[in-house]
Amino acid sequence: MQMNDTVIIGAGAAGLTAGLYACRANMNTVMLEKLSPGGQAALTAFVENYPGFPEGVSGFELMDAMRKQATGFGLEIKTAEVKFIHNHNTYFCLGTDTCELNTRTIIVCTGVRPRKLDVPGEKELFGKGISTCATCDGAFYRGMEVAVLGGGDSAIEEGMYLTRFASKVHIIHRRDKFRALPSFVEKARQNEKIVFHTGMVVTSFNGETGLEGLTLKNVETGEESRLDVAGAFLYIGLLPNTEMFDGLLELDKNGFITVDDNLQTSVPGIFAAGDVRQTPLRQIITAAADGAICAYSAGKFLEHLE
Ligand code: NAP
Repeated sequence: MQMNDTVIIGAGAAGLTAGLYACRANMNTVMLEKLSPGGQAALTAFVENYPGFPEGVSGFELMDAMRKQATGFGLEIKTAEVKFIHNHNTYFCLGTDTCELNTRTIIVCTGVRPRKLDVPGEKELFGKGISTCATCDGAFYRGMEVAVLGGGDSAIEEGMYLTRFASKVHIIHRRDKFRALPSFVEKARQNEKIVFHTGMVVTSFNGETGLEGLTLKNVETGEESRLDVAGAFLYIGLLPNTEMFDGLLELDKNGFITVDDNLQTSVPGIFAAGDVRQTPLRQIITAAADGAICAYSAGKFLEHLE
């Protein structure tokens, strides 16, 4: 079986940048992605803080440009889900649903996925009014009232995006302080289509064949109320896609991969980039920078093997 220099797992901003740098460094590189390239960033309606785009850029367009740039330098992207990784000390064997690959190094860029609320009605109505992607589903709610759950950057940004379609956007947050950038929150407060409900949690999603409304609970008084909405968008945080590395790599208490200054994990030869690693800031720019460092570190690791 052919020996690769590196296998990159995940085709978001971190993975595509790692792929670009690895291919430009003439490393024999394969990328594995179980869905389509672009990661969470491709589902972001509008990106205002990626340098070089003074007018902003759609997340999809930005990620598509990253994909084209990386494949233009020879990156091969295979659609496959990694099922196992065996450490043979001088190389790794990766098994996917379609093939097996040998490689000297691995760059993990598996990113994160949206957290769910885990209350009654969520499972039954997911995809029938409940969504985690405003970019994908926002246009279904033209002229209707929708809710956005959460108080981070995603909730505020995507809530603003939804005002393009919805007649009213209810932002429901469990505290009165927001994790989101104060300037985002201020901008949202000035939007007359947005209504804030703070100190409130959703205790159930209601509806028979599709979402009809939410039951809200005031966290201080315990008082319950109902809110009629046709759509509910969950932006209550992110969970790392690290289940497959449990037992192989050191993870922090929240499941994110721990790395050293070169972004090497607890296993020599395996590196981690982007949202999946323990990091103080999760942005497209930081994921891309991580990808570049990982490709460089993997190259240095290969030099030491020779
Ligand atoms: P986040 O910052 O982790 O915020 C999650 C929000 O959901 C918090 O307000 C949290 O409330 C709330 N929450 C968590 N669990 C909950 C539960 N069980 N019930 C009710 N509410 C719950 O997540 P995010 O907004 O998705 O952002 C993730 C990362 O991406 C952040 O680092 C963010 O800065 C970054 N991001 C950046 C941009 C940008 O710069 N353009 C855009 C999007 C995201 P508490 O505050 O009470 O904990």
